[in-house]
Amino acid sequence: MQSKNTNTGTLKELRKHAPAVKSRELAEEIEKLIPGGVNSPFRSFEEVGGHTIFFDRADGAYLFDIDGNKYIDFLGAWGPAILGHSPKAVVEACKKVIELGPVFGSPHTLELEFARKITRAVPSIEMVRLVNSGTEAVMSAVRLARGFTGKEIIVMAEGGYHGHSDSVLASNGHRTSGGIPNATASNTVLVAFNDLESLRDCLSKHSNSVAAVLLEPVPGSMGVIPPAPGYLDGVRKLCDEFNCLFILDEVLTGFRLALGGAQELYGVKADLTCYGKGLGGGMPIGAFGGSEKIMRHLQPIGDVYQAGTFSGNPVTMAGGCAMLELLSAPAVYETLESRAAQLFSAIQVEIDRHEYPVQLPRVGSMIAIVFSSKPVRNFQDSKAIDSKRFAKFFHFLLERGVYLPPSSVDAACVSAAHSVDDIDEAVDIINRGLSFVFDRT
Ligand code: PLP
Repeated sequence: MQSKNTNTGTLKELRKHAPAVKSRELAEEIEKLIPGGVNSPFRSFEEVGGHTIFFDRADGAYLFDIDGNKYIDFLGAWGPAILGHSPKAVVEACKKVIELGPVFGSPHTLELEFARKITRAVPSIEMVRLVNSGTEAVMSAVRLARGFTGKEIIVMAEGGYHGHSDSVLASNGHRTSGGIPNATASNTVLVAFNDLESLRDCLSKHSNSVAAVLLEPVPGSMGVIPPAPGYLDGVRKLCDEFNCLFILDEVLTGFRLALGGAQELYGVKADLTCYGKGLGGGMPIGAFGGSEKIMRHLQPIGDVYQAGTFSGNPVTMAGGCAMLELLSAPAVYETLESRAAQLFSAIQVEIDRHEYPVQLPRVGSMIAIVFSSKPVRNFQDSKAIDSKRFAKFFHFLLERGVYLPPSSVDAACVSAAHSVDDIDEAVDIINRGLSFVFDRT
């Protein structure tokens, strides 16, 4: 769908936001109490400069800051806002249940209902276990894979992000970390994404020691990288050939790219799948699942330990059930695709017209505006991304009411709550932002 916007105005015509004075004051104060002023480093403005924005409300496609400014949001809370912020049915379901008791520490019917909904939506999942974050889901799936196979090495893609547990943070490319024992790091081996030959070589080299290949089907932390045709299928076959498990990290793609996630979109089946983000409709959540044969290795019926005081708590389950109900309407995925296509086709016209060195990788509603002259297919390619120019672009947009992730490499998200008019307005600001960073500096 082509945007109706013709982008004929000048930069001066665009209204700028009121300065975020209160946010600046609080950003300075919070840094004295919370390291870097954030409870997750992704949220920091370290890469783009300036101070973080404090928000006090999120509704549909919009964020509202404490200085009274409104933003068209493409952060999507780093993924959960598939339907936009605060879907009414999710909020109502959580409110109703919290009054009955936010945590029991024992089974309840909403867990059963939620597990039924997940296993119906994803054919590769016969049994599921619910946790509280994507990190927990991946950490637990990795342990289960090791316990099930009796092998230790995890193979993953360089530059992939799978949360912050030791095994998967070990030398994962651009996010280095202290505090990880060498013994743990040495059990993680990296290959280039989209390169079946390097995976074959790696599996041959470590032939009897690989427990699992762990991949994001569409990596979202080095731009957005679509898997090359046949790649995921090729990985599946190599895992079978070398007798190791295939773990798909669908924390970001799950329930976003389709109800059955990337596995539905690309017609591939993982042995274990990890979820988080969008599954809870905004509530803190994680889940991992797979065949009964593998999942039965978890305690209390198997020997692989995994647990959680708040796992499967009634409020999250209520939010999750409501979210999956909403997502089961096919129109959701049509809307996501149509809004994201509208946004990117209108920006692409401008990029082509001016020959800006910008790439627009997109899979469904997962998008990235990548400041690089060449398409990014893996971590090595992502090193060419111009983060300084992105920082200028980011602030141009922020001051005019479009909120992107404060990162030149992380995926942005379109939601089903973005209207055609929201997208048109965003296109106007984004295209002027491109003109600003390329033509005027
Ligand atoms: N896996 C992927 C693909 C992610 O994008 C993330 C978070 O960004 C995680 C795992 C970790 O999830 P969480 O932040 O909920 O721990």
